[in-house]
Amino acid sequence: MIPITKPMLGENEAEAARRVILSGWTSQGPEVAAFEKEFAEYVGAPYACAVSSCTTALHLALLAVGVQPGDEVITVSHSYIATANSIRYCGAKPVFVDIDPDTLNIDPKLIESAVTDRTRAILCVHQIGMPCDLAAILEIARRHSLPVVEDAACAIGSEIFWHGQWEKIGKPQADVACFSFHPRKVISTGDGGMITTANAEWDAKFRLLRQHGMSVPDTVRHGASQVIYESYPIVGFNFRMTDIQAAVGREQLKRLPDIVKKRRDLAARYKTLLSEIPGLGLPVEPDWARSTWQSFSVRLPRGSDQRQVMQSMLDEGVATRRGIMCSHREEAYPRDTWSCTGRIKGCSCTAGICQCLRHSEESQDQTLILPLFPQMSFEQQDQVVESLHEALRVVMLNE
Ligand SMILES: *Cc1c(COP(=O)(O)O)cnc(C)c1O
Repeated sequence: MIPITKPMLGENEAEAARRVILSGWTSQGPEVAAFEKEFAEYVGAPYACAVSSCTTALHLALLAVGVQPGDEVITVSHSYIATANSIRYCGAKPVFVDIDPDTLNIDPKLIESAVTDRTRAILCVHQIGMPCDLAAILEIARRHSLPVVEDAACAIGSEIFWHGQWEKIGKPQADVACFSFHPRKVISTGDGGMITTANAEWDAKFRLLRQHGMSVPDTVRHGASQVIYESYPIVGFNFRMTDIQAAVGREQLKRLPDIVKKRRDLAARYKTLLSEIPGLGLPVEPDWARSTWQSFSVRLPRGSDQRQVMQSMLDEGVATRRGIMCSHREEAYPRDTWSCTGRIKGCSCTAGICQCLRHSEESQDQTLILPLFPQMSFEQQDQVVESLHEALRVVMLNE
């Protein structure tokens, strides 16, 4: 059986976790601080703050840039549901715009018509590791004085050509970037997240909010020679990363360059092999972007049935996933909370299908995510391609 993904964890990570467990300090402490510093250095960010997940990272990022109940935040529906949910946690309303079907990222041309006087921020996504068009997004955002938060859950190691040179996603090129260490992502701490920014005030706010709004971190109180009484100026959360996770993350960071290289090599090989399959749409990487290929997604030929293809491949021992979900199609998003009627030019939003999110819906229904993980052998990759080719032959014959 070829799995969809497999985290690269080994003895080094196990040993790191063991070391922390035996040290007696397991919650947010010195390992978290060291992980933050090393992560900030890797992406080139002035500040990095570790949290419990990318979802909690997005929540804190939106709060820090000033999103409040009743506000609107422009984002995509075509993303993991955590993107839209983070807006809802702030009591704000996600306003969904469609994607560019080639890159699966937000179509910047559609943003302007979604801006109203209640718009408070833009939450863009580097979907499955492919950098979105930040230059175009920031141009619009700056014109309307809107902060931009990047959902970079899958983009640890992704790069963008910025002001004449290649930079890592997370510097950040926009205002705040949020990363995930879930096992489906590029590197993993079991669960975990990171927030990067160049804004010292926001970074201080993340640190306060992640630990119950407590004025003095545990580590400072623990290490003090004088008695310290902490205070709680605001209502915070418990969004801490543990030192056990951070120690694993530090080992993962050491592997990261190798992981990204292997993923890129496998993606390039996929592109060559898959170009042999007639009608199959391959992912498009703009010349200013370098993906991590957290997922490798292909668009099935017109007329082929996604479920049939997936089942046929599964029968051959190859796991796949359907295209990225659309939040607006889930029950958690009843129509009245995101309706764009009259908002987006040309959208009638009738008959159960929203024309203005057509590309999002089509991508969910017509794309397929193929197995891709650094340990994957060429033989395994050949087997994936062969099983897809065969599945499409059978499906096409049945037409
Ligand atoms: C995985 C993912 C998230 C959620 O990350 P967690 O760390 O699991 O909370 C958010 N946004 C996107 C785009 C994702 O892929």
